[in-house]
Amino acid sequence: KGPDPDLVEIADRMATVKHKILVLSGKGGVGKSTFSAQLSFALAEADRQVGLLDIDICGPSIPKMLGLEGHDIHKSNLGWSPVYVESNSNLGVMSIGFMLPHPDDAVIWRGPRKNGLIKQFVKDVYWGEIDYLVVDAPPGTSDEHISIVQFLQGTGIDGAIIVTTPQQVALIDVRKEISFCRKVGIKILGVVENMSGLKQQLSDLKFSRSECGTETDATEWALNLIREKAPELFDTLVCSEIFDSSQGGAQKMCLEMGVPFLGKVPMDPQLCRAAEEGRSCFGDKSCGVSALALKGIIEKV
Ligand code: ADP
Repeated sequence: KGPDPDLVEIADRMATVKHKILVLSGKGGVGKSTFSAQLSFALAEADRQVGLLDIDICGPSIPKMLGLEGHDIHKSNLGWSPVYVESNSNLGVMSIGFMLPHPDDAVIWRGPRKNGLIKQFVKDVYWGEIDYLVVDAPPGTSDEHISIVQFLQGTGIDGAIIVTTPQQVALIDVRKEISFCRKVGIKILGVVENMSGLKQQLSDLKFSRSECGTETDATEWALNLIREKAPELFDTLVCSEIFDSSQGGAQKMCLEMGVPFLGKVPMDPQLCRAAEEGRSCFGDKSCGVSALALKGIIEKV
């Protein structure tokens, strides 16, 4: 029996893709797509050619997070063309979201159909010469994950980044994600702890009059005090823990499981806004803290 012709075609397609990174999570809503989107923006802004492939067939949020809602896919004799980000043509995106007649349409497919579309995504999309293919997977370890590994494994997957929040219930599922990667032989590039505390700018902090004991504006009083006594702290983030991380969070779990911990990203309303508006958070001054955290993580990958 000869080699599977689909796998041969996929290998041909992937010959122009230097690196392939999967972005995984145990649970939904932990910020996996946000991370995939911002990772792709960061790489594209660093002058890399990037493809972002959304294989979350039932809940594609990548088109919105890249500011590409309502775009269509075009076909040429080279294959399906990705949709390119308007502000940065280094970044091409493919998602089932571009194929739905209406954004509210539900995709109610069983495994074989999802498998078929993912195969088309890796076989029929013309990415051209790219440095990175970032694959945003749905949460968990289900049909989509088995499909992508089945199709790309032979072409070399660089590894997986797992995104989580700090709670135990999320981390239990991360352990399963790690087991999945180990079973199918995918290297774990590391774990990102997202929403690990709430970012507050000092100017958001409210001090009461009784604390400052004067008739002047209390917040201004506090800010002036900090500016005077500890200027280096002036624009520092203040993080309040919102989730219970008394058990050590993702960092401790990484130590126990023997996988790299890549870092923490605080909960940041400005990062959320950038994602909602389909923008990069880098270069956006208001996202300073979360963008800095993300940059540090991306440099480690
Ligand atoms: P997932 O892909 O894991 O389901 P999303 O990336 O869709 O999660 O994120 C869920 C929501 O949380 C989105 O509205 C996103 O903008 C927001 N979000 C993600 N990370 C952060 C963060 N660090 N700070 C604030 N909001 C965030």
